Amino acid sequence: MYQPDIENMKLPEIRKLQSERFVKMVKYAYDNVPMYKKKFDEAGITPDDIQGLEDAHKVPFTVKDDLRQHYPYGIRAVPLEKIVRMHASSGTTGKPTVVTYTEQDMDTWTTLMARCYSSAGVVKGDIVQNCYGYGLFTGGLGFHYGAEKLGATVIPISTGNTKKQLMMLKDMQSTVIACTPSYALYLAEAAEKEGYNAKEDFNIKVGMFGAEPWSEEARKRIEDSLGIKAYDCFGMSELYGPGVAVECKEQNGLHIWSDEFLVETIDTDTGEVLPEGEKGELVFTMLTREAMPLLRYRTKDLAVINYEQCACGRSHPRIMRIKGRSDDMLIIGGVNVFPSQVEHVLMNIKGVGDQYLIIIDRDILDSMHVQVEVTPELFNSPDYDPAGFAKKLEGELQAVLTVRARIELMDPGTLPRSEGKAKRVHDKRKA
Ligand code: ADP
Ligand code: ZN
Repeated sequence: MYQPDIENMKLPEIRKLQSERFVKMVKYAYDNVPMYKKKFDEAGITPDDIQGLEDAHKVPFTVKDDLRQHYPYGIRAVPLEKIVRMHASSGTTGKPTVVTYTEQDMDTWTTLMARCYSSAGVVKGDIVQNCYGYGLFTGGLGFHYGAEKLGATVIPISTGNTKKQLMMLKDMQSTVIACTPSYALYLAEAAEKEGYNAKEDFNIKVGMFGAEPWSEEARKRIEDSLGIKAYDCFGMSELYGPGVAVECKEQNGLHIWSDEFLVETIDTDTGEVLPEGEKGELVFTMLTREAMPLLRYRTKDLAVINYEQCACGRSHPRIMRIKGRSDDMLIIGGVNVFPSQVEHVLMNIKGVGDQYLIIIDRDILDSMHVQVEVTPELFNSPDYDPAGFAKKLEGELQAVLTVRARIELMDPGTLPRSEGKAKRVHDKRKA
């Protein structure tokens, strides 16, 4: 589903299209969603004040709580009869946030998903083993319909049942795997344990990985152990689901499909729009969504956007890897740290396994407690010196991230594995 006329638009053309769509969307939201009329009234503006992208900063933000307050049927611009699908976020804290789709929205989302696959080199004839969860979570059905639209064959296996996943990978000779990166790591480990030789027994060439932050080191491990190319995909249920941004063959940043999404980067504390290239919170406006318009939606995801032309030919701006959400940031002895940065440091060290868990058990943190699995090779080696190895990891975290850590080495296979989004932080204060 390569769409060169859209994918290869130059930045000024993209801006022009975005500007037209933005102005239209603002008016549509104002006219059809009471919440937006109220927000505009409170801000003392009307759609007439928004003449193009240069006025975007005047538009009030939308936040997750706005969605929660519109439980159960969401922020809606159309009558229920026009809604053909709904999904909901996991809702671990309180009521889930519900998102709705019209037929046109489904078509847009599915097309974007197909574009994502094609950006990673997936073509008609490929066999996609889809291990994202089917259900209210947008991952399963999003990756499913996108693959079908592309003309690929989908195996809708959903999450879990790792032995069966491995059997299917071998028997069906799946060429594409779609799942969270943490599950891919687990699959690779499980394959070895079950006696498969992943590179010989399986035929996977591409992995479509997303839904959680992961590091460059995790990518290397997945690519090496499964013999595949691992692509990063980004999305969230509020923005249709997966399919908002994806890597191309360059694997250097995720192109945001900017005919459908306007992205801005803001300072999380002040809400000010930051200059291009500065790290901040990503704010998205959906440019054509019919059922549930979202203007300037604050994602809490922190990243840098790169507006340079990519070597692949696309000019759609790129998200340089998402470090994590502002909610997940830890402050250790005054230093801001994301779990993905800890992963980056640890997985670079030979002997460190694929699983780790950061444990928080005090209000004021001056050092962190990290449980880290060692690889079976190290564990079984006669030279294994746990005390020395733990010290080495602590030294490395101190050197690279300037944080103090207490490392607790774990035997291989003892930390919990995840089938969906991995839980990398255990906050005992919230337990
Ligand atoms: P839920 O709220 O149910 O977990 P989502 O699946 O919509 O629902 O979660 C979206 C969030 O997942 C994003 O805001 C982001 O924090 C994270 N995420 C999704 N894809 C990626 C990715 N490729 N890299 C890093 N984080 C991601
Ligand atoms: Zn590119």
